[in-house]
Amino acid sequence: MVALRIVELLGDGIGDELREATHVVAAALPIEIEFLPIDLSLENREKRGRMLYDQAIAAMRDTRLAIKYPTITHNESPNAVLRRGLAFSVIHRPVFSIPGVESPIDASVNLQIVRVATGGTYEDPGRMIGDDAAVSLRIVERRPVTHAARFAFRLAQKTGLTVTSTSKHTIQRITDGLFEAVAQTVAQEFPDTRHQVELFDALLAKIVLCPGNFQVVLCLNEYGDFLSDMACGLVGSMGLGASASYSFTPESKPDIAMFDPAGGTAPDIAGQNKCNPSASLLALAMLLDHTERDDLATALRDSILRGISSGECTADLGGSLSTSDFSAAVAEDVASRVRA
Ligand code: ATP
Repeated sequence: MVALRIVELLGDGIGDELREATHVVAAALPIEIEFLPIDLSLENREKRGRMLYDQAIAAMRDTRLAIKYPTITHNESPNAVLRRGLAFSVIHRPVFSIPGVESPIDASVNLQIVRVATGGTYEDPGRMIGDDAAVSLRIVERRPVTHAARFAFRLAQKTGLTVTSTSKHTIQRITDGLFEAVAQTVAQEFPDTRHQVELFDALLAKIVLCPGNFQVVLCLNEYGDFLSDMACGLVGSMGLGASASYSFTPESKPDIAMFDPAGGTAPDIAGQNKCNPSASLLALAMLLDHTERDDLATALRDSILRGISSGECTADLGGSLSTSDFSAAVAEDVASRVRA
């Protein structure tokens, strides 16, 4: 019996190799997964236009689960089109240290960044006022902040962690003030979960100095963007992680979820069987967490990390394995873990 139906959004560059790696590893898991592919490659997007996105959106509304591989951004960003079409309002981006990956700091990082995916300054490119000034609108809305806050507190509650909400509420008193007010209100729904508030600039310094003091971080769109990249720099890798985008029911329950690897299409190495599929496999692990198969998610993450820390990995991390050899090794390792 098929236990999971997952829409698979095919991309460009190394996308096919990442897909193959994902299938090899998924086949080693004791769960029946049906992948429903939709070709979002640039060529097909240019050929089919809006109809293709409509098909992808309808399929994702049906399965409520998707994995997306990297796509080239040409005229439009597929992620932005999907975000608007499916009302994705929260991005969850875990960033953690990986033994064996060189990092600029000694301390270990394990951050769950929960970011409002809409609004902030990112919806409005701005406009000129005369020749010498420009202005843009910054939007903060109660609804997506409530979804993000409930997601963050639920995650913290499940794992016994602390939520840090962060903004510049002392300066952006109305916009960031609304964000912090919503965070406070939601915090009251979770009386057993610790909540602290940090100004965003101070938080960056504190994370660099003492990352272990922070766990779930809740923030608005642009702060989350900056923090995610800084955290990736701290763990020594921009491209190793994965993220999840969520839409929500009116009760703030996650509704449609899409998981995608960080990192781009790497056209320079596409088709050479040498890309690192870890980020796509970590995206699959996040999907398993979301579907309440935490046991499989943990086993899969452990297998990926074991490969990397033991040096049995791809060349970008100093190893000598091809994409297919690395994924076969992860598949074998995870199969033995879930059998045990
Ligand atoms: P895009 O326009 O899609 O962002 P890009 O090549 O400009 O593509 P990335 O895809 O992020 O940007 O690639 C940056 C560098 O990192 C390239 O040299 C690429 O080969 C390398 N790289 C990216 N992803 C991987 C991967 N999964 N495994 C190994 N190397 C990778």
